Amino acid sequence: MGAALHLAHVHQAPVKKRRPKRTGGGDGSKFAEIAHRIYQDERADTQARQLLLATAYAVTMAALDEETTVWRAICNAIGSSVRGWDDLRSCVRQDVPRYEPPGRWSRSNVLDQRCRGPRVRVHPNGPDDFRNKMKICGEKTHDMVVEKDPVTGWHTNHWFCTRHQDHLKRVAAQIAEQNAAAPPPVPNRGGLLPSYFESEWTELYRWATHNPTWEPPAVYGVRADDWPIPGQDPVPQRARLRLVVGNLGTAGDDA
Ligand SMILES: [Zn+2]
Repeated sequence: MGAALHLAHVHQAPVKKRRPKRTGGGDGSKFAEIAHRIYQDERADTQARQLLLATAYAVTMAALDEETTVWRAICNAIGSSVRGWDDLRSCVRQDVPRYEPPGRWSRSNVLDQRCRGPRVRVHPNGPDDFRNKMKICGEKTHDMVVEKDPVTGWHTNHWFCTRHQDHLKRVAAQIAEQNAAAPPPVPNRGGLLPSYFESEWTELYRWATHNPTWEPPAVYGVRADDWPIPGQDPVPQRARLRLVVGNLGTAGDDA
């Protein structure tokens, strides 16, 4: 309720600047430094980068007063795509730390939902067709076995069609022990805001997800900087700016 009430208050209150907390022209060198890091961050897509830059600007530079909290300043900095708390909430929701298994957002892979069973006859599409090149059945299917990596817990999907259910069962039996011993998956999405800003992230992600029982990923925590990626050096520890929860702190479900 808090956020909704606050938003109504912002919209209805006459615009008057009182007792400014900061009148703008803040810490330009700090903003430049963090903006540089954000632009270099290959984990951030366009939307994530926009949110990170807006947050960095709001924390270091924006003019703040009683009407313009740091969160309002973030909305203002992002611009017309974020008009209210619900828009901001969906931006923050994009940054919720999580593991997304393959096939959910990477539909571009031609082998997603394609049977891996062996091909015995040549497919009529010709020698360049993936089914003939890989000698796989390639039938569209929704049946799969998930294999969990013993180190990262990351998933690999093995798809099998109705004609290749015996293969599915065999693979499932082969990897059952490995799957049971696999660790919780290292998160691979979100967690960028906490990599740049200190805040009460559990509380904020609960607000963003409308889920009061949301918990940070087991073992690895909310910060993408802390998530190990095989074959890559860990991200060095670095200073993080403080982002106050402020009036979003008491925000419950206003949807
Ligand atoms: Zn098949």
